[in-house]
Amino acid sequence: MSLISQESIRASSDKFREECAVFGVYGHQEAANLTYLGLYALQHRGQEGSGIVSGDGERFFQRKGMGLVADIYSKKTLKGLLGNRAIGHNRYSTAGDSDLKNVQPLTVNFAFGNLALAHNGNLINASVLRGELEAYGAIFQSESDSEVIVHLIAHSQGDTLLDRVIDALSLVRGAYSLLLLADDYLIATRDPYGFRPLCLGRYKGSWVVASETCAFDLMGAEFIREIEPGELVVINKSGMTSYHPFAEKPPAQCVFEYVYFARPDSKIFGSNAVYSIRKALGRQLAKECPVDADVVIPVPDSGVPAALGYSEGAVIPFELGLTRNHYVGRTFIEPEQSIRHFGVKLKLNAVPDILKGKRVIVVDDSIVRGTTSRKIVKMIRQAGASEVHMRISSPPVVAPCFYGIDTPTQKELIGARQSLENIRKYITADSLGYLSLEGMLNVAPGQASHYCSACFTDQYPISFTRAEQLQLGLFEPVPSSSQ
Ligand code: AMP
Repeated sequence: MSLISQESIRASSDKFREECAVFGVYGHQEAANLTYLGLYALQHRGQEGSGIVSGDGERFFQRKGMGLVADIYSKKTLKGLLGNRAIGHNRYSTAGDSDLKNVQPLTVNFAFGNLALAHNGNLINASVLRGELEAYGAIFQSESDSEVIVHLIAHSQGDTLLDRVIDALSLVRGAYSLLLLADDYLIATRDPYGFRPLCLGRYKGSWVVASETCAFDLMGAEFIREIEPGELVVINKSGMTSYHPFAEKPPAQCVFEYVYFARPDSKIFGSNAVYSIRKALGRQLAKECPVDADVVIPVPDSGVPAALGYSEGAVIPFELGLTRNHYVGRTFIEPEQSIRHFGVKLKLNAVPDILKGKRVIVVDDSIVRGTTSRKIVKMIRQAGASEVHMRISSPPVVAPCFYGIDTPTQKELIGARQSLENIRKYITADSLGYLSLEGMLNVAPGQASHYCSACFTDQYPISFTRAEQLQLGLFEPVPSSSQ
C-alpha cells in the first residue's frame, strides 16, 4: 500500500468519529417537548446538530437542524411533532462531515413500517459492513456509521422487528447506546461492553431514556436504573420488557466519561454524581504530584471539580483565575489548527488580580494535542504569575478512541509522541504532573477492569481485524526496504 492511500484511509476514518447524546420517551402526550428538554440538558454531548422524531403509531414527524438545540426547535416546530413517543439526538463530530444528512435520528420506512434510529458510540466494523452491504446493492444516505445498523435490520430475515434488531446488532462491533423508534415500540439498548452510558427513568407514567441522568433532572423524571451492558429494553403500550440476547462480555465503560465528557451533575456507570469522582481525581492528583504554590486554579469548566479536589488535598487556596466565556463552543470542535489557537482566547481569559506575583497550580482534566495548555500557561504568565505548574487529572492521552470520543489520530496526540519533560517544555510550564492510570482507576467506582481506558493505555477492549485496522487507519505499511 502506498503512503497516499494510507493517508486517504486515515482521512476517511475521521468521518466515523463522533460523540453524541440520545433521549427517548414513550407514552407521554408531550413527547416532543420532553425530548427537547432532554436534548437541551444533554447539549454538552453534541453541539453540531440535533434532531427529534416523534410518532403517533402510524406516522412519523421530524425536525432536524444544524447547531444548538435552543436554535433548532421553536414552539411551532415542536407543536408539529405529534404523538406520544419520540426519540432525539445531539451530534458532535469532527470536521469534514458537518452536514444535515448526518444528523440523527435516521429515519426509514420499510417492510415493518417506520423506523428511526439515534446512536451514541462508534462502530469499529462500520466501514467493512458498509462495503459488504454496498456490494449487495445497499444505497447509503449518510456518512454515519450508524446507518449500517438500519441496513442490517432491513436485510435481516428475522420474522419480527425485534428479531431483526437482534440480528443486526449481533453483526456490529464497537460501542452503541442506541434508541430505535418503531410505530409501536421504543427500543433502547446498550452494547455488551457498556462503553457509553444509557439511563432509564419514569416521568408521570411514561418511560424516558437518556444518555445521562441530568436530562431526567431537568424535567423532574425519576431515575430508575441504568440500562445494563448487553441489555435490550422494549417499551410499548403494555409496558417495558427487558432482554439479554447477546453473549456476555467483560464490561468496558468509558473512563473518559468521568474525566471529561459527562456532565458533573449526572450519575453514570453506577456512580454518585460525576462531580464527586472528578473531585476525588483532583485529591488523588494532589497526593501524586505535589508542588509548593500559592493558589490552585482550574481550567473552566471541566477542570473545576478536579481543581477543588486538588486544593482540598494540597491545602492550597482555590481561586477562579481564568474566566470562561460560556457563549462559545468547545474549542476542540474547531476544524483548523489556526482557528483552534484563536479559540482558546475566545473561550478563556486570565484574572490578573488573582495571579499577579503568585506561584500558580493550574488544573485541567486532560491534554490532547497540548495546544490549549500551551496557550493557558502563556496567558497565566502574562497575567503576572511567578510560576505556573500544570496538573492534569488523568494520564497522558496516548491513543485515539474508536468507541465514540472525539480524539485526533495518534500522530497529533502529544502524549503519544513526547516525554513528560518534552511536553512540559512545549507547554512552557515550570512543572507538569499527570495523574497515574492506577490512581485514576482506583478513584472510579467498582472494579478497575470494568473500564475502557484505551485512550490512556493503547489497549483496546475489542481486538481489531486486519480489515478494521485498515479502515481505521491503524495499519502502518511496512517500509518498502524491508518488504
Ligand atoms: P488540547 O489543546 O488538544 O490539548 O485539548 C485539551 C483540552 O480539550 C482540555 O482542556 C480538555 O478539557 C478538552 N478536551 C479533551 N478531550 C476533548 C474532547 N474529546 N472534546 C472536546 N474537548 C476535549
